[in-house]
Amino acid sequence: MDSARVQSALGALGQPPYRWDQVRRAVFDGAASYDEVPGLPALARSTLAERAPILSLRARRVEASSDGRARKALLDLPDGSSVETVLLRPSERRWTACISSQVGCAVACTFCATGLMGLARSLTPEEITDQVLFWRQYMRREGLPGRLDNVVYMGMGEPFSCYDRVAASLRVLMDQRLFGMGARHLSVSTSGVAPRIVQFGRDFPQVNLALSLHAATDALRSRLVPMNKAYDLKALAAALKEYLAAANRKIFFEYVLLKGENDRAQDARALSAWLEGLGPRELLHVNLIVFNQTDTPHRPSSETDARRFQSLVLGAGFKATVRQNLGRDIDGACGQLAVLEERA
Ligand code: SAH
Ligand code: SF4
Repeated sequence: MDSARVQSALGALGQPPYRWDQVRRAVFDGAASYDEVPGLPALARSTLAERAPILSLRARRVEASSDGRARKALLDLPDGSSVETVLLRPSERRWTACISSQVGCAVACTFCATGLMGLARSLTPEEITDQVLFWRQYMRREGLPGRLDNVVYMGMGEPFSCYDRVAASLRVLMDQRLFGMGARHLSVSTSGVAPRIVQFGRDFPQVNLALSLHAATDALRSRLVPMNKAYDLKALAAALKEYLAAANRKIFFEYVLLKGENDRAQDARALSAWLEGLGPRELLHVNLIVFNQTDTPHRPSSETDARRFQSLVLGAGFKATVRQNLGRDIDGACGQLAVLEERA
C-alpha cells in the first residue's frame, strides 16, 4: 500500500484526518479490502479501491509444504513480471516472511536458482512491503494463529544492489503508524556490497545483517559468489569492521556447504582465520546452510563433512549453527526461489 496515495485520495474526498487512522489500523492488521474498514463511507471505499489499491501485487498461486511450516506464493506485479515470497513458521505462534527485493538477481552465485534467472528489475518499496501485507492478509483469511512479526530479506535479489529502495521499505516496516515492526525483528542478507554494508550500519544499526560468505579464500569465493570480484575478502573485512564499529551488532555469516568444494577441513580453517580479528567473537555467528537442490552442478555436503566443518569452526572459538531448512518440498527454501518460464 502506498500510504501517501491513500492519504491524498482521502484528502481529495474531503475526509477528516481520522479516516486515515481507521484505514491504516485495519489494513496493517490484514484487511483485504476497504470494505473491511469499520466506519468508512461507501464513496471513500470505492474511490480508494480504484485510486489506491491496498496491494500492488496479486497472488497467482500459493503452495504449502507438507509439514505446514512453509508457504510460498507466486506474485504478479503490475508490469507483468513476477516474484516469489515465502511465509515460514519457525515456531508455533511466530511467523516470518522471507521477501524478495528484485525480480531475479544479477550477482549470479553458481548454486542459486534466482541467480540463474539474471536480473529483470528491482522492486519498488511498495512492492517489497506489500509482500508482508499479502502474508498478513493470507494469515487472516486462513485463520492462522499467531503473528507475522519477523521479516528477512532473503528471497529473490540482492538487497544492497537496490539500497535506497530497500532502505525505504525498512522504514515503512518499522514505522509505528504502519507495520510497526521492531528493527531487531528485521534481517537483511547481502552477498557483500561493501560500501552499502558500511552505510547500512550507520542507517540501520539495529536491523540484523547477514553476509553470504560461502568461502574464505578469494579464488573460491570469486568462483561461487561473483560479487567477490568487485569486493574481495579484504574489502569485505574492512567494511565489516566499520559496520561493527557503527552498529555493535551481531553479524550472521551464511555458509552453504557444497560437497567437496568448500566443506573441507582446510576451508573451515580458512574461515576461522578470516573471522579472526574481524571483531569480538560474540558478535560473529556462522550459520551453516544445508545446500538445497537447484538446477546447478553442486551437491550437498555429507552429514559427516558438515559435522566436522561445524566442530572445526566451533573449536576455533566461533559460534556455528546449522540452519533449519523449511519449505524444501515446495522449492521455497534458501536459494530455491525463481520464476521459471514454464510457470509463467
Ligand atoms: N541475495 C542475498 C539474499 C538472498 S539469498 C544474498 O545472497 O545474501 C538467501 C541465502 O540463501 C543466501 O545466503 C544465499 O547464498 C543462500 N542460498 C542461495 N542458494 C542456495 C541453495 N541452493 N541452497 C542453500 N542456500 C542457498
Ligand atoms: Fe543473488 Fe543472493 Fe542468489 Fe547470489 S545467492 S544469485 S546474491 S539471490
